[in-house]
Amino acid sequence: MKADDRMTAGVFFRNLLFGIRVVIRTTCGHKMADPGNLYIIATPIGNMSDITYRALDTIRKVSLLLVEDTRVTNKLLAHYGIQVTMESLHDFNESGKITRLIQYLRAGKDIGLVSDAGTPLINDPGYRLVCAVRGEGLAVRPVPGPSAIIAALSVSGLPADRFVFEGFLPRKVAEREAFLQALQYEPRSMVFFEVPHRVLEAIESCIRVFGGERPAALLRELTKIHEQHLAGRLEQIAQVLNQPTQAIKGECVLVIHGSTLPEYSESIEKARQLLLDLKERISHKDAVELVARHTGIGRNKLYSLGLGTRLKNQQ
Ligand code: SAM
Repeated sequence: MKADDRMTAGVFFRNLLFGIRVVIRTTCGHKMADPGNLYIIATPIGNMSDITYRALDTIRKVSLLLVEDTRVTNKLLAHYGIQVTMESLHDFNESGKITRLIQYLRAGKDIGLVSDAGTPLINDPGYRLVCAVRGEGLAVRPVPGPSAIIAALSVSGLPADRFVFEGFLPRKVAEREAFLQALQYEPRSMVFFEVPHRVLEAIESCIRVFGGERPAALLRELTKIHEQHLAGRLEQIAQVLNQPTQAIKGECVLVIHGSTLPEYSESIEKARQLLLDLKERISHKDAVELVARHTGIGRNKLYSLGLGTRLKNQQ
């Protein structure tokens, strides 16, 4: 093919493609709709009034509202006199719905996502959907509002300029304490979700790992009628919860002050990991000696940081 012919062929295909695009974009004379948005909408964590005007407007205007539990969201919608098509989305059905929901957005329809309380995806369903929608190049828009994490931190009386959120603690004691061990030298405030029937044992684990002196706050039933704040040293909070009159009810957030050990450094954290590994293989005494020799951290220092503590099954 000559250069002129190639050019003519190029122009022909470009015009053909343009023609196809025009045909696709017009159905009976109508422009095809722009894709819809997926709105991630925060709802109250207790007090029904804690919802933004924009959240209510968005819930009213979406074509489909994805909800964690229809019974819970029905109460919110009834309170505000809103009627909208709802569909449940939870951890067990989320993946199976994604393809259809993306088609829905592509057809120009807006979708809203709410969870039972607070901000969706924060320990709530929606992560897989958001990833998939973003992966398709479609828009995901936040409609921000309450979250138990921020509400708790803001009233805890503990530093809120830097913090880590660690979700729910593991249920089993050994796993929980290993998890907490990894946070022993965390300098930022730590925020945990906890269920009422495990909160006391969670605090007891925290005392074993961080020490009873560590400042903390337990925030229960935030924004609800029986809101309660317990703040003080971990051991003081445990004491209150241990009183027979103290029924542990309602949703809780636990905030713990970060480590203030001036000695904290990466090398100490490495020494700690090394010691934990070695103590599984050799005697406690030999492990401390080896770590002290190879890290340059004195034996007394290792002991004072709790790094020399014997494992339960060692003599
Ligand atoms: N997405 C929610 C948010 O942004 O707050 C969190 C959902 S998570 C599944 C539920 C946990 O949040 C509860 O177990 C509790 O730890 C915490 N929580 C929710 N509402 C609360 C409230 N009113 N007071 C204290 N904690 C609350």
